[in-house]
Amino acid sequence: MSKNFNPGQYVREDLRDLQPYKPHDYPGVIKLDANENPYPFPREALDNIGALLSEINFHRYPDPMADKLREDIAGYAGVRPGQVLVGNGSDEIIFYLAQAFGSGNRVVIASPTFSMYRIHSRIAGAEPVEVPREEDFSINPRLIKTAVKASGAGLVMLCSPNNPTGNAEPLDVIEEILAGTNAVVVVDQAYLEFGGDDCVPLLSRYPNLVILRTFSKAFGLAGLRVGYMLAGEAIINELLRIKQPYNLNAFSQAAASTALKYLPEFQKQWKMILRQRDCIMEEMTQIPGVTVYPSDANYILFQTAVDAGLVHSRLLEKGVLVRKLGQELPGHLRVSAGTEDESRAFISAMRSIINEVK
Ligand SMILES: *Cc1c(COP(=O)(O)O)cnc(C)c1O
Repeated sequence: MSKNFNPGQYVREDLRDLQPYKPHDYPGVIKLDANENPYPFPREALDNIGALLSEINFHRYPDPMADKLREDIAGYAGVRPGQVLVGNGSDEIIFYLAQAFGSGNRVVIASPTFSMYRIHSRIAGAEPVEVPREEDFSINPRLIKTAVKASGAGLVMLCSPNNPTGNAEPLDVIEEILAGTNAVVVVDQAYLEFGGDDCVPLLSRYPNLVILRTFSKAFGLAGLRVGYMLAGEAIINELLRIKQPYNLNAFSQAAASTALKYLPEFQKQWKMILRQRDCIMEEMTQIPGVTVYPSDANYILFQTAVDAGLVHSRLLEKGVLVRKLGQELPGHLRVSAGTEDESRAFISAMRSIINEVK
């Protein structure tokens, strides 16, 4: 073997400029950058999950279809278990959707939005076709339909409430797109528990609809990687051809089912999170030079008159981490609603930074 062995030479040419996903780690900061649930897991639910350790047969493979969890999700979402497919985070399901319906074709994406749609499209060898949202970040259904027709795309990626902009689409906009195209239309509702219209009522009428959801945000299970999709059986059957047999581990399956049993506890947390979001929103509108966008989710998109990169690093110096948006929305920042203390710390840091640098 040559000393200059280069495995890259065997990698598909169009993948060679992809960059590994490397989130920075800032230990000890107030984390308001990833839209996670800031509250600890309800005590009793945690004890219940702890008890799973002695109940699960770790030496056996998990249930490949996660039937118990599917039933529980179906009950929670108001669908039939056969309309549910679970994944190792909804990221895995986005990967499957791009492989199944995007590969060798085009994927229409309403941008700016969650960057994984573009990344998984590229991994699948699909060409992302980005259709810009309106000034207020709403989706223009006519533009989406035209783009699908012109590109021949088999897959459309919408997000509502949209990450990172925070706005949700009314059902009639989603419906106009579903009715006006034969492509598979995905509506990512990762933040549905915080706001926006539930697309489930459209499922029975539109066999081309896929709804994506997750336990990572509202249910505080980001670390256990549980996402799911809701769709008609025809779409699910196509994805089952490529699904990894044991994609969701036994522990995460059981933990997600347990979380659903404590729904009222989580609902209390959601109320507190929304209250914090509204407080942050109100305080921010009073800081000079700060523009905030309305939000139907647990985070807020904002702009500052001073450089966003500078605000981001000054916040970090003060121990608060927010998200600095990259190429999808340059000059913008996104902050997640935290606990009351965290949110207050963010606001007070913002105030002093804006005072210092103006
Ligand atoms: C966070 C997020 C996800 C990722 O969810 P996982 O289930 O943790 O993979 C999916 N979609 C959007 C829009 C998100 O913001």
